[in-house]
Order: sequence, then structure tokens, then C-alpha cells
Amino acid sequence: MKVRFILLSCAADLLASIRVTEKDRVLSKNEFVIPCSDFFGCSKDNVEEYSSDGKAVFLRCRSCGLIWKDTNASQKDKAYDDEYFSGHRYDKKLARKLRKADLFMEIAEQYQSPGRFLEIGCSLGYSVMAANRRGWKGKGTDISEFAVKECCEQGLDAEVVSIEELIQRDTRYNAILMKHVLEHFENPHVVLKQCKELLAENGVLIIYVPNSELGRAKRKREKHKFYKYSRNGSEHYVYFNYHNLTRLLEELGYEIKVQNYPIAIKNGSSLGMMGQRLFRRFLSLLKSDQELFVIAQKK
Ligand SMILES: [Zn+2]
Repeated sequence: MKVRFILLSCAADLLASIRVTEKDRVLSKNEFVIPCSDFFGCSKDNVEEYSSDGKAVFLRCRSCGLIWKDTNASQKDKAYDDEYFSGHRYDKKLARKLRKADLFMEIAEQYQSPGRFLEIGCSLGYSVMAANRRGWKGKGTDISEFAVKECCEQGLDAEVVSIEELIQRDTRYNAILMKHVLEHFENPHVVLKQCKELLAENGVLIIYVPNSELGRAKRKREKHKFYKYSRNGSEHYVYFNYHNLTRLLEELGYEIKVQNYPIAIKNGSSLGMMGQRLFRRFLSLLKSDQELFVIAQKK
């Protein structure tokens, strides 16, 4: 009788553990399978498989157009170790990167005069450097000790620190830059919310993310670097278009100031910069712009 009881209770425990495991699996899948249900209330019925190379699987919501990685069906990400940055050095790319930073800082300065600048995911610190040159007090954060050490060696203020930790401190920023960073987060809406907490009144958030409407990526899908595991597919979680990114920012209480490069700006510094803005605008007309550029202001 006692043995039967023990056996029955073991069987019940086993069944319970299977149920819990199954429930956890389904729950975690539900949490990530459709992130836009969290912020747009999209329905699971509208999800389709968008691309799969066997290692990285991406899904798409037909209703809002968001594309994201199915983490349950995809292989684990690569780590951001020293090797991730070892190909990058302060070299001839520097001039080009500083020019590009000048371009977006000039546009951001239409809405916010130089103050405290924070780059989340600063890599080797080119944009922090550019902001400092324009009179901002720049700081960079990164998860890579290697990248931060390189920045510090260049005399930049940089630190390995989480957004949560920064929020705990008193400092608030007049501009935050996330350049090709947001797509590396599983929960971009949470990150955007945290950025709002970190911004000072009327502070601006400058965002660059890959453009899911890029013609080549749409045609080639898993053969394109965005979705290929051996390229960006292992690191990226989410792909936006202008429509769903600006909608998300507005839902979070930001005001969209810039969406794509403006052709004319009030205090533009040179014809060369205007030429660059025109060129980028032209690329987007041809659906050949790889990245979205948005500036949103904290209301
Ligand atoms: Zn959706």
C-alpha cells in the first residue's frame, strides 16, 4: 500500500513537473513570439515565418510589419568578446565616422543645444569623440570591456554599465544616441522606455537601426546579411521600418522630430553636409537605405 502510494506520488510529481516545464516553455514562447502584442496589441494570428537559414529564424507580424527573431527556433547568439571588436581600430575609418557623426549631431542640434551626451553601445567611441568636438560633454557605455578600455585610452569618458544602473544615478542627458544598438535587444520597447527615464526634459533620442524595408533584404531574405546566421542574423533580434518604429516611440510618449534625413535645416553648416543628406534621402527613395534614422524628443 505504502509502495503504491509512493509510486503514485512520484508519478504525480513527474506529471506536475512535465506540466510546469511545458507551461514555462509555452509562456516563454508566448512572451517573445509576438513582441508587438505588448506595445501595439497585435494578434498572434497575424504572425508568419519570414526567413530561415536553419540557424536563424525570423518571424513577421503582418499587421504592424515588425520582424523579430524566434529565439526558440534559432541558435544562441555569438558573444561580444574582444574578437568582435578586434577588426575595428582607430584608423582611416575615423574621418568618415566623425563626418557621419557630425551629420546627425548637426540635425539633433536643431532641437537641443549641446549639453550632456550619452551613447549607449559606444563601441570604440567615434560618436562620443565627435560630440565632444561639437561642445557636448560626451559619455559612452558598452558591454565590451575591450571597447571601453580602447575609449578610455583615447581620453574619452566610457564605462561598462547597464542602463538600469545609469537610471539609479542622478545624471540625466540632453541627447542619447543608439546607433545600431536597439536591434541587439530582445525587448526594444523596454530599452526605449528606459532611455526616456535617462533623458532630461526635452532631451532627444537619436536612433539608427537597420531598415526592414531595404529592397535587397526583402528580396533575398535568409540569403541577406540581415537574416543570415553567419552575418547579422546571430546578433540581431528585431527589424523595424519607419512606420512601426515611430509608432512605438509615440506610444511611449516621445515626439518624432526627424524621420529620415531632412533636406534643408535651419542652421546647416555647409553645402557638403546638405549634399550628404540629399544623397541619403535619395537612397531611401530607391529603397536602398540600409538604416533608419529617427530623432525623437522627450515630451
Ligand atoms: Zn505587430
